Amino acid sequence: MKVLVINCGSSSLKYQLINMENENVLAKGLVERIGIEGSILTQKVNDEKYVIEQPMKDHKVAIKLVLDALIDKEHGVISDMSEISAVGHRVVHGGEKYAGSVLIDENVMEALQECVKLAPLHNPPNIIGINACRELMPSTPMVGVFDTAFHQTLPEEAFIYALPYELYTQYGIRKYGFHGTSHRFVSMTAAQMMGKNIEDLKIITCHLGNGASLSAVKGGKSVDTTMGFTPLAGVAMGTRCGDIDPAIVPFLVKETGMSIEEVDNLMNKKSGVLGVSGVSSDFRDIENAAKDGNKRAELALDVFHYRVRTSIGAYAAALNGVDCIVFTAGLGENSITSRAEICDGLQYLGVNIDADKNNVRGKATEISTADSKVKVFVIPTDEELMIARDTKEIVESAK
Ligand code: AMP
Repeated sequence: MKVLVINCGSSSLKYQLINMENENVLAKGLVERIGIEGSILTQKVNDEKYVIEQPMKDHKVAIKLVLDALIDKEHGVISDMSEISAVGHRVVHGGEKYAGSVLIDENVMEALQECVKLAPLHNPPNIIGINACRELMPSTPMVGVFDTAFHQTLPEEAFIYALPYELYTQYGIRKYGFHGTSHRFVSMTAAQMMGKNIEDLKIITCHLGNGASLSAVKGGKSVDTTMGFTPLAGVAMGTRCGDIDPAIVPFLVKETGMSIEEVDNLMNKKSGVLGVSGVSSDFRDIENAAKDGNKRAELALDVFHYRVRTSIGAYAAALNGVDCIVFTAGLGENSITSRAEICDGLQYLGVNIDADKNNVRGKATEISTADSKVKVFVIPTDEELMIARDTKEIVESAK
């Protein structure tokens, strides 16, 4: 079975075609600048690149070109579209309706539409992508895999905000959490690497990329996570502020005359390690600036590491102990210094990093010392594979 995985953004689209017999990626690609001048599709098969530059006025045109690229005689990997048995779509927000992945039908499309108000930036392009695929491949089953689904197991005390309860019942204001597919993938992989049943484990997963979140996973279920009603909450991120005193918002509106939209933009796009350092949102730039003696770059890293470290402490409390900690995503997989800094101060929990083992990038491996009570792993995330696995399972069970 071959599964096409689609992750649609507002002007971009990532895709992978995965052979589920051996979970090999047959082709992967990226379409950028959809609907704007300079549209470009880049497909990679092994190390060979295939580039198509032509106007793409909308996602339907882009997806048609993706299918053409996949069946291209010279650069493609399949001979006919019918070889694609199913399509798995990444969907950001499933609200409270979806605690797992789902076969897409009209009812699901309606439910996704209802979730637009919860994720006004992300769900609309996901819906556009699904509709375009359904038009182009009307007889191919499609599955929706939600970023929020894994966190639907949070207990009430973890997801209810201390606001008037009616705001939850009337407007759905609660903690939802995001990056669920990644937290699920790396927690399952960690259990495999430990040779243990996930049901018996307490795991803290740290997805540290441009967006960052942690999850407390007990017996394979998420019991807490740092992102909230939106992905703005939790630890500091590349450009997002993470948790701040909410009273700062009305204060800024009153003192500066900024509109709510401007404050929202400031918290989402101009804050985080970019805001503190004034250098960049990219951790590599900040690490380099800190090495050159830039104090604010150093401070931005300290703020970030402190927040991740104290969140791990909080989740050790939520789980009443911890068996393993996982680092994943761009920074988690690649930054040797960040992992060392975050773990330095967690010795009281029984966390001990081996400096030699930690000298690694982008590879699934254990980085804790042999006698570390808590095992620490680096595990490259693979949301596409998780989406493809769910898609295969759901489509096969629906037969
Ligand atoms: P992601 O959102 O998962 O793609 O992660 C992007 C983030 O990972 C960016 O802020 C990068 O700076 C960071 N990153 C990627 N590679 C490295 C590296 N070698 N060292 C430090 N940070 C890195």
